[in-house]
Formats: sequence, C-alpha cells, structure tokens
Amino acid sequence: MKKPFVTKEQLEKIIETYPTPFHIYDERGIRERARALNAAFAWNRGFKEYFAVKATPNPVILDILKEEGCGVDCSSLTELMMSDKVGFSGSDIMFSSNDTPAEDFVEARKLGAIINLDDFTHIDFLESVTGSIPETICCRYNPGGDFRISTRIMGSPSEAKYGMTPEQIIEAYKILKAKGAKRFGIHAFLSSNNTDNEYYPTLSRELFKMAVRIKEEAGVSLSFINLSGGVGIPYLPDAKPADIAVIGEGVRKVYDEILVPAGLGDVSLFTELGRWMLAPNGMLVTKAIHEKHIYKEYIGCDACAANLMRPAMYGAYHHITVMGKEDEPLDHIYDVTGGLCENNDKFAVDRALPKIDVGDILAIHDAGAHGFSMGYNYNGKLRSAELLLKEDGSVELIRRAETPDDYFATLGVTKFFN
Ligand SMILES: *Cc1c(COP(=O)(O)O)cnc(C)c1O
Repeated sequence: MKKPFVTKEQLEKIIETYPTPFHIYDERGIRERARALNAAFAWNRGFKEYFAVKATPNPVILDILKEEGCGVDCSSLTELMMSDKVGFSGSDIMFSSNDTPAEDFVEARKLGAIINLDDFTHIDFLESVTGSIPETICCRYNPGGDFRISTRIMGSPSEAKYGMTPEQIIEAYKILKAKGAKRFGIHAFLSSNNTDNEYYPTLSRELFKMAVRIKEEAGVSLSFINLSGGVGIPYLPDAKPADIAVIGEGVRKVYDEILVPAGLGDVSLFTELGRWMLAPNGMLVTKAIHEKHIYKEYIGCDACAANLMRPAMYGAYHHITVMGKEDEPLDHIYDVTGGLCENNDKFAVDRALPKIDVGDILAIHDAGAHGFSMGYNYNGKLRSAELLLKEDGSVELIRRAETPDDYFATLGVTKFFN
C-alpha cells in the first residue's frame, strides 16, 4: 500500500505557512534512491547517474543529487543555465537534446558539457555554430523496428523521432574521429516508465553489440555507454517495483558477456534516470474545496491539471490518500477534479475512496517527476509552490507559488500592463 511520507499532522502544520496546493519532496527518499542506484552499479568503474533535469528542475533538488555524486542531463538552454548555477560543469553535464537550437549548443560548449548528438546532420550544425567538434562526444542511437523484451513489445523506435540509424551512427563516429574527437559515447532511450528488471539489461545488450560493431567498422572504442532514463515506478499501489540491484546485476552479466571479450572492459556506464529517482519522492498536496452530486459524484480540489498534467495527458493513474482516512472503507466512488475548463481535468476517475469532506487534505502520490515541471498556465491558473521535507523533519520552501504579477509580467509590453 502506498503511504505518504508525511503525516496528516505534519501537513496541517505545513499548510499553516504554505497554503495548498503545493508539491512536496522527500530529501531522505531522494538520497536513498541515489545511493541504491550508485550501489547497484558500483561494479562499473566510471559509473555515473546524470539526473534528467526536466523531471524535477529545481536547484535545491539538483544540489542534493550533486552531493550524492550525480551529474545532470539537460535538454535545453534554461536547464543548462540552472545546472551551471548549482555548480555543475564539464563532464558532470550531459546535454541530450533534440531539434536543438544553435544557442543551446553554444551554452553547452561554454559549460564544457558532454554533447549527445541526436542526429547525423547535427555534426555539421554543431561545428558551424560552435566553431569546432569537442574532444568528447556522444551519439544517440535508434535501432528502428520494435523494441522487445523477450517477445513483448516495449516500444517502437521506428516511430520515435530520436537518434540515428545504425548506418548513420557508424558513419558519424568515423567523421567525428576525423574531425578530432577523442572520447566517444553512445546513448539510447527505447522504452519509458518500464518497471521490468530486464529493461536495462535488454537495452544494454543492444548497445553493447553496437559498441562492438562500432569498434570493428569505425575503428572507435567507446569510452562510455549511456543507458539513459526509462526505468519506471509502480504508480498502481499493487504493481511490482523495479529492483535496481537486480537491474545492476543484470547489466553486469551482459557487460561481461559482450564488452569484456571484445576488449571493451573499461567502458563507463551512465544513466539518466528522472522518474525512478524522483517520482515516488514527491507528492502534490491539495484540499477538497467542493463536492458535487450530478450523474456522478465529484470532489473538486484546489489543484488542477496545470499542477499535474499526467492524468489528463496520458490517463495516468496517480494514487490518492485522503489524509487521516487511511483506515476507512473505500465505499465511495468519485471523480476527483481540478477546475480547468477541460473535462479531462480529473486526477482520478471512478476511484474508490473513503468518504471525502470539504476541507480534507488529499495527497496525490508519485508526482515528484514530470509533475510540477509539466505545469502550465491554462485558464490563468498559477503554478504552485515546491517544498522540501528535509532529513531533520523541517520544511524548506524551494520555489514560491506564482502570483498574478508573475502571470502578467510578460504583458508589460502592452499599454494595459506597463
Ligand atoms: C526524459 C528523458 C530522460 C528521463 O526519463 P525518465 O523516464 O524520467 O527516466 C532521460 N534522458 C532523456 C534524453 C530524456 O529525454
């Protein structure tokens, strides 16, 4: 059963200072996950997790991960700028972007980040906009077809916009080497939110075989292989979690089987996990402000899809705990809604929950990644605050809530708001 990492009493106290809705993150849980991941891959010299900034772009969170030895994976100019502010630099930054604007490459070069090229044409583009090819460079791979774990289809790379084909990527390494690159990596992201312990090992097999081919056909020995993100979490309360220790061992077996005999036994492995690191360590906390009885029973919250878009966008399940009613029978069927003028603004549909009263505090679980960061301002809704529950039990405001002034700030160019 999913249990919130704060009690009702703690939340009531927090709400006295920081009104709902807000996202709250659990520092202890974040550190535990970072340590478990680093332990699972400790067998690989050079292993590094580059946390996917887009999942939870908050400098205080990034700083915690930095203390745990993680780097950052950035996908845009502003993510690079934020990482720079936190003190990441050079090879602590992976820049995995696509459809990349020139100024993003310029900033990535300025910070000395490892650039992960999404496309064959980006070799020329990067060289023309930054003046040269960096000594360390990575290429993103797209094997095409379907991605299978044994016989189950787990993704369709042939439908994905990312990466280079096998022929392109081999040609890319030859060209990059001729242009002076000295350290090479490969990257692929082939399945999302995958809780199967075989995901990374299966992906590894594909990438490791490609690494051998690159050595034979392009004369390039890769220095690092980036397994990217995609390890999932169980959003459903009775779903089975991925076991990171088992995953690390699974990857080690494939490494010993394919890379070591090919003379590639010193390749460093990188990951770019976002969801697995942060999702369970964040909750969206909201209050029931209305109940409505028409053809169905509705509970209206003070949060909406602008604070957490996944249910509206993907029909994603997010578990809800009605604080203080954990032991009451789930004898009511509700749609739990936000106030957007969009009928998909529902955190839950036909969900069995205890009887909810106006004023009850609802904790929406697993919102720590791709939660706040996917927020938006539709209907003029304002983004919420972000709070950090620290290891000592105190709470720190790590992003204040937006105010109407923030919302209107870009309108100073008009005669109405300047
Ligand atoms: C989104 C993304 C990640 C993180 O994915 P998760 O599913 O959160 O683990 C990592 N790398 C790249 C390139 C991404 O686009």
